[in-house]
Amino acid sequence: MPDRPARPPRAESREVVELKQLRAAHPELASAIDMQLELVEMQRRVQARVPLPWIHPDPEWLATQQSAGRPVVRFGDIPLDWSDFRLAFRQTADILHRYESVDRAAHQQMQALSRDGNALQPIVTEWYQATSRVDDLPPPAADGAPANIDQVLLLAIRPFLTRCAEALIQRADFSAWRFGHCPFCGWEPDFAVIMPSGDRRLICGRCVAQWPFDQLTCPFCENDDRSQITSFATPDGLYRVNACNVCKRYLKAYDARHAARPVMVAVDTIATLPLDAAAMQRGYQ
Ligand SMILES: [Zn+2]
Ligand SMILES: [Zn+2]
Repeated sequence: MPDRPARPPRAESREVVELKQLRAAHPELASAIDMQLELVEMQRRVQARVPLPWIHPDPEWLATQQSAGRPVVRFGDIPLDWSDFRLAFRQTADILHRYESVDRAAHQQMQALSRDGNALQPIVTEWYQATSRVDDLPPPAADGAPANIDQVLLLAIRPFLTRCAEALIQRADFSAWRFGHCPFCGWEPDFAVIMPSGDRRLICGRCVAQWPFDQLTCPFCENDDRSQITSFATPDGLYRVNACNVCKRYLKAYDARHAARPVMVAVDTIATLPLDAAAMQRGYQ
């Protein structure tokens, strides 16, 4: 008797397929890729539970925020279910700890925070208000928060914030935004994509929203003197680094002009880890 065919596994997302291909081609990146696979899977599970929020900001307020360079997602707009968030926070901390991105002491503190029903809410609220600057408040003093909590908070809040950007982009026009930080949540860009037209779009390191930004201006210090921007690419032309000689920071980009697929942040940030090493070797941060 022929064997019964095995039940096909649940379809893998395009990102997971690409990450696994990357691991086969670059075994030296295996640990970073395995961590990313776990994070992608966890965020997919959380995001499936997050509803698209009902955000209807006043058009005049939107215009004022945008012209002042202030982002538009207020903390109260984020569809945060606290038990979902605590779970996302705890699982993110567990994954980062397993891959040695969070040390044991910080991990224990974070576990304690996620078990306490009320401990995370004020931390997340203050952190978002201080780092988004939607209201232009002064930053609060740091007070004994665990090391690396920023990294865990931003990964844990991503599935919720992404929904806000999705909702707002249908309601308002963000094409005139010309600032180096995210028009939705105020965070810095963490990656970029060079479009087939040659225009560059920055990608937020927290909510993964995209916005257009001048190709040869530094988004971190707004230096636009081309002689102070260093640019180098991978041999296949697929990835590029723009580094600023004024503030010494750099940003990696996926060059879609040479590419067969659109940018995938979860994949491309990992595929370019060797470029981070190259940029740091040249003295950039
Ligand atoms: Zn953002
Ligand atoms: Zn700069």
